[in-house]
Amino acid sequence: MAIRHHLSDELLVDYEAGSLAEGWSLAVATHLALCPQCRARSRDAAAIGGMMFECIESVQPEADSFEKIMKRIGGEGRDAPQTTPRNPRPNPAVSGDILLPEPLRSYVGGDLDAVQWKNLGVGAQQMRLATGDGATNVRLLRIPAGDPVPMHTHRGQEMTVVLCGSLVDGEDVYMRGDVEYADQSVEHQPAAGPGEDCICLVVTDAPLRFSSKLMRMMQPFLRI
Ligand SMILES: [Zn+2]
Repeated sequence: MAIRHHLSDELLVDYEAGSLAEGWSLAVATHLALCPQCRARSRDAAAIGGMMFECIESVQPEADSFEKIMKRIGGEGRDAPQTTPRNPRPNPAVSGDILLPEPLRSYVGGDLDAVQWKNLGVGAQQMRLATGDGATNVRLLRIPAGDPVPMHTHRGQEMTVVLCGSLVDGEDVYMRGDVEYADQSVEHQPAAGPGEDCICLVVTDAPLRFSSKLMRMMQPFLRI
């Protein structure tokens, strides 16, 4: 099934510039491994970014600098510059039938059968993934088929990439590879679609804010 929920331009450009924290990069790379459309957009972003960088370095500041840069970017017959990978990179060759694409696979340490799930006490289970950025919280979340997660809003950004099953949030349905964004302006209660457990990669940069008092009491123990 075709992916319908894609990466934003802003995230793609930041990813290609190497300016994303590791957790966000991992989520972006995971989507890219599953989405040919965003891989093409990512190559364009890298090519334009590389040309901008090259032009800024080589063109002396002058009144017409901007025109010169734009002329060179629009110039014909130029090869896209090679960029140096600084992020976890997608490896489309291993996506497809394998449930976990690289680079996510190496973070999880095997396939999904090998995951050591920890109960969250609400039906759902998680596996926290170790990153070294000190800025993001990264986890795999497994939600039983048809079950909702507790109602919550956010103190920061949340990015979810569905890996298997489906996630239903209001009118939107997210399938394998689809990305969902949420922030302080969003209060929601996503649920796994029927028939299959939903496993997704979830990245946040601040603790969630739960509506339920019980969940708020459990939160320090769940580190969610
Ligand atoms: Zn995409």
